[in-house]
Amino acid sequence: MGEGLENEAESMKCLICKNGESNPGYVTVSLQRGETTVIIKSVPAMVCDNCGEYYLSEDVTEKVLNIAEEAVSKGAEVEILRFAA
Ligand SMILES: [Zn+2]
Repeated sequence: MGEGLENEAESMKCLICKNGESNPGYVTVSLQRGETTVIIKSVPAMVCDNCGEYYLSEDVTEKVLNIAEEAVSKGAEVEILRFAA
């Protein structure tokens, strides 16, 4: 294998501004489900250093949705939670 190969997994070009690089960080995600607003803090994501756009992995997305569904089922109007890894 050549030496020029780079591991792209940890850093990727932003799809929105096509300028910035996305780096691992934490974001606050808010979701609206009917009457319920769910805000989840400290969600691990890839964050663009240029425009701030963030990307969640499939695992994290799934977990975020599960957390949201749980809050919705409790019937809360606004639920502010912390993402637990
Ligand atoms: Zn960007």
